[in-house]
Amino acid sequence: MAISREEKADNFRRELLDIRNLNIPTFCNKCNGVMIFKGVGEYKCEDCGNLAYDDYGKVRNYIEKHPGATSAQVSMATGVTQKAIRDMLKEERLEIAAGSNAFLSCEMCGAKIRYGRVCRACEASYHKSLEEKARHTKHNLAGFSADMPNMDEGAKRFTRNW
Ligand SMILES: [Zn+2]
Ligand SMILES: [Zn+2]
Repeated sequence: MAISREEKADNFRRELLDIRNLNIPTFCNKCNGVMIFKGVGEYKCEDCGNLAYDDYGKVRNYIEKHPGATSAQVSMATGVTQKAIRDMLKEERLEIAAGSNAFLSCEMCGAKIRYGRVCRACEASYHKSLEEKARHTKHNLAGFSADMPNMDEGAKRFTRNW
């Protein structure tokens, strides 16, 4: 029997976390608000509006300002490893030309897409689930003033209400 759509989505999320370890900003470094995904690697604090970027966003911004930079220069400037940068570029190059009849399928919902592994809607819902988790973690940690642990550990380790 084929696995359900839910299971597939779950597996995919786990896989995505493993493969694309982008250092997604979970909490605002100014006010500890939850960071909301805005698209193309950019995140905005839901409380104070502070912007932050994941590794993909940092690399993308740097390349936009410094076209022609080598992966070594990008790595130095952004702190993202050269291997991670090469992987990102490879994904970008896989974009299917506009006007072509070829399409890829979103791995979560099967929608037709031109690049990457999931459609925009599924990417957004993936980020929403991360944001929900972050809110949950923050709620459980209310009054707990130590550094915020990363979201996954936090969700597992701090499950009681303070
Ligand atoms: Zn903030
Ligand atoms: Zn989809």
